[in-house]
Amino acid sequence: MTQIDTLPPLREVIAAHQLSAKKSLGQNFLLDLNLTAKIARQAGDLTQSDVLEIGPGPGGLTRGLLAEGARRVLAIEKDARCLPALADIAAAYPDRLQVLNADALDIDPLAHLTPPIRIVANLPYNVGTELLVRWLTPPDWPPFWQSLTLMFQKEVADRIVAAPGSKAYGRLAILAQWRSDARIVMTLPPEAFTPPPKIHSAVVHLTALPAPRYPADPAILSRVVAAAFNQRRKMLRASLKGVAPDIEDHLIAAGIKPTDRAETVSLEQFCALAEGLRRST
Ligand code: SAM
Repeated sequence: MTQIDTLPPLREVIAAHQLSAKKSLGQNFLLDLNLTAKIARQAGDLTQSDVLEIGPGPGGLTRGLLAEGARRVLAIEKDARCLPALADIAAAYPDRLQVLNADALDIDPLAHLTPPIRIVANLPYNVGTELLVRWLTPPDWPPFWQSLTLMFQKEVADRIVAAPGSKAYGRLAILAQWRSDARIVMTLPPEAFTPPPKIHSAVVHLTALPAPRYPADPAILSRVVAAAFNQRRKMLRASLKGVAPDIEDHLIAAGIKPTDRAETVSLEQFCALAEGLRRST
């Protein structure tokens, strides 16, 4: 075990600031600083980037990011009890850590960060998927971020990287893989966290592609995919009936059998279907 900084161990920090974990805030803390530094390294070279971290808590991952050389870190934490511990980290890394006591859903990070921007977080379970969907569906592409390195429940991570034909394949896979490269880079057992959650977790690394993998109108693609997977056991000619009156013709033109189910349709086919629908309106 190497020591990544000269600040006190996280167990001492938590005891000193009485940071008993709150379930309502999704608080499962990482206390092994070698592990948090390893997660920070999955994000790539941080020395030329500003980093957005959601939910620093007592600061384990924050310390990993700073020790790995992040140019600047903006950490958004909802729980005011964590602020004194985070202030100690800011003092140890002058001018490199800014902490906002806020709900991450309410903050415009661009007001505080300079590109290139990487997002790295051990996300709170209750808002993790909502934040990911926001980051994947900005009004313009490429987005404000270069990469996302995010801890999720393993089941959510599997849905992000899923391929057609698997149970995990659905809206999240399409959203993530249409305009990003997404892969699982680490899997962590419950014991890696304090307190341990019931399930395994995984770190997903997503890199924004300069342009979408296949052309499609984002709103149409989103509508089609939502309708298709809302009733994933139905044949597409039934689940997409409300999308267009001549949906069977559109499906055939996109190379999809009207009797197929959503989970067998590739990303390329969904994009072709969305493009066909756009051209006909
Ligand atoms: N990063 C720390 C670590 O790895 O040990 C803590 C991770 S813990 C899974 C999630 C953190 O997100 C908690 O510190 C929690 O207080 C914070 N949090 C929960 N909801 C939030 C929200 N809406 N906005 C900002 N932070 C939030």
